[in-house]
Amino acid sequence: MDKLKAALTSLIAGIAVTALKITAWLQSFSVAVLADAVHSAVDLLAVAITYLAVKTSVKPPDEEHPYGHYKAETLGGIGGSLAVMASATFIAYEAFTRLVRWEPYTPSLAGVVTMAIAIAVDFNRVVVLRKFRGVSRALEADALHFSTDLASSSAILALLIFGVISEKYAPEVFTRWSPAIDIALATAITIYFIKLSLALLKSSIIELLDYAPPDVVIKTRQLVQRVAGVQAVKTVKVRKAGGVYHADVTIAVDENLTVKEAHEIADQVEKTLKEELGGDIAVHVEPHKPSQRPEETPSAASRSPQEPSGPPSRSPR
Ligand SMILES: [Zn+2]
Ligand SMILES: [Zn+2]
Repeated sequence: MDKLKAALTSLIAGIAVTALKITAWLQSFSVAVLADAVHSAVDLLAVAITYLAVKTSVKPPDEEHPYGHYKAETLGGIGGSLAVMASATFIAYEAFTRLVRWEPYTPSLAGVVTMAIAIAVDFNRVVVLRKFRGVSRALEADALHFSTDLASSSAILALLIFGVISEKYAPEVFTRWSPAIDIALATAITIYFIKLSLALLKSSIIELLDYAPPDVVIKTRQLVQRVAGVQAVKTVKVRKAGGVYHADVTIAVDENLTVKEAHEIADQVEKTLKEELGGDIAVHVEPHKPSQRPEETPSAASRSPQEPSGPPSRSPR
């Protein structure tokens, strides 16, 4: 099975699981089952958002978007985060209503069977996705995600089984405890959703603010320093855009080089960084006097004082 087929299988399994869980909810009216069904629906929505975002982000740069469309992925992250937050609000509302009314859910053997089938389908999906460990990071991440989801679904299955058994053999235990466990499970899913949503929102906002990860800055500087002909690296500015990094670097080369020679060095820097970072690379060239020691700027992102404050010019192609 190839990656695309596995992703498609996972998508179909996700639709089936969501439909089964909605059925289980209609059979049991358990707010925990409802929360789990919403969770599966949100996971499906996340697949759709990711698909659209990635599809947009890989579009090549055009006249209106000279830096490419990479940040579509970041916007997708914000959209996904808001969708998760909306789901959390919905489940919290349902759980609160249940808390006020203190109603037990309906014990239903059919509900148990439906939920068990949903878990079996989900388990198979994890088995398929696990085969891509080390092959596809996205599928590997999905395998991990859905295997943790299996844990919460199993807890809810246990709740439904508890309902069927206790109602038959100890009805007073059922009426006393079932609303509490039901609401507690739904609340746990709500908390998980809120945490997930905030984490996603945080990472997206950091990216929109042109965050420069220190390790990437250091790596970029080292790569530029290693290019033959580069006598000093004056500034290194990187920023994350979706799956790539854009970079602006200022290098110093021997002041006696011809424009042609200096350009070749700048081109080599651009090529090296493009391979590593994937984004838009701008190289600014400054003259370096042979008597000078190779200089180091104290901070990776700061400009040296003699640097004009205008935008760095792109090296001519
Ligand atoms: Zn465009
Ligand atoms: Zn999930």
